[in-house]
Amino acid sequence: MKPLYLDHAATTPLDPEVRAAMLTWLGDRFGNPSSVHGHGRQARAAVDEARDRVADAAGCAAREVTFTSGGTEADNLALRGVLERWGPERGRHLVVSAVEHEAVLATADALAGAGRAELTVVGCDRSGRVDPAEVAAAIRPDTVLVSVMLANNEIGTVEDVASIAGAVRARNPRALVHTDAVQALGRLPLGLDALGVDLISLSAHKAYGPQGVGALVARHGVFPAAQLTGGGQERGRRSGTENVAGVAALVAQRRRETDAPELSRLAGWLTDLLTESVPGLDPTGDPAVRLPGLCSFVVPGSRSDLLLAVLDELGVCASAGSACSSGAPVPSHVLQAMGFGELAGSALRLSLGRFTTGAEVETAAELVRVAVARVRGGGGVGAPIR
Ligand code: PLP
Repeated sequence: MKPLYLDHAATTPLDPEVRAAMLTWLGDRFGNPSSVHGHGRQARAAVDEARDRVADAAGCAAREVTFTSGGTEADNLALRGVLERWGPERGRHLVVSAVEHEAVLATADALAGAGRAELTVVGCDRSGRVDPAEVAAAIRPDTVLVSVMLANNEIGTVEDVASIAGAVRARNPRALVHTDAVQALGRLPLGLDALGVDLISLSAHKAYGPQGVGALVARHGVFPAAQLTGGGQERGRRSGTENVAGVAALVAQRRRETDAPELSRLAGWLTDLLTESVPGLDPTGDPAVRLPGLCSFVVPGSRSDLLLAVLDELGVCASAGSACSSGAPVPSHVLQAMGFGELAGSALRLSLGRFTTGAEVETAAELVRVAVARVRGGGGVGAPIR
């Protein structure tokens, strides 16, 4: 049986339309966008078109989009580059939320550890919501950047970024606001003005595009200092020959309006099925304001790594929260910040995508019920199915 892929928050499959757009640039068409001849001009046109599409999706001007190697680089460029460019003039106080992805948290820690930033980490409530008033209370005259994500990758809570940005500006109009919208591309409306932010990080592989491609959107005039120097591509903001096939694949936001309601419907149904059939299972995150398609739970009496191994054996691709590169079981920092204590080691995330069907949701619910019963009963991989 084909495995049931319910880990779209880790990465999505390539959409056939996206694959077709990419294949054009992996076959007869090639060229360096900086070359002046025909091949180069064609490649330049493809990059320009991709930039227009991203600008459309992110509610910004094309010149405000810089392509990167993914969300991690976009987050690094935002934090490191803002501190480098604006720190000397505005101060080096950095505010981040405790539920950020490691691409923000580890970068903020590294900057603070190197003495380049003073860091304040703002907490959240039991549903993972960051309170705009708490962020505002952390703002100082020397705050240079605030970074709060739009949608959490582990629990799906959508932060009220517009209110957070408003509260920040009321305290310090010179402080810049960044949001990591990697999980939101193709699922939630974006926009520099709509969100009231200065910088937005995006990644293609969470939205039916390839891994290793992303963008940092930065309001005109605030662009961070380049962290990659060289040939001066991307208006000198990020040197390196553009990934033409990769950026040609950035088309996801186009189907948001049809995708998002269906993803929310299926995820709500899966959550209901599991809450009914698995005793003690507790949905995590904000039940009302959620990333379409993301279901998250804690499952008392079952360790994440054991449950994932059994689910894998049963043909269900799931995750504990974030996709950890080491594969080692580390209790979720997000659930810990939310006050889940030891239960942070019992997280389960099921994330649906554009191609997930209702029949798959029903099968998944049954297989998760079986897997939890097996783990709770002390049986691991290879135990008989009950
Ligand atoms: N930010 C969030 C919220 C994410 O979920 C991820 C990926 O897991 C990243 C950043 C990193 O993006 P990328 O994998 O493109 O480097």
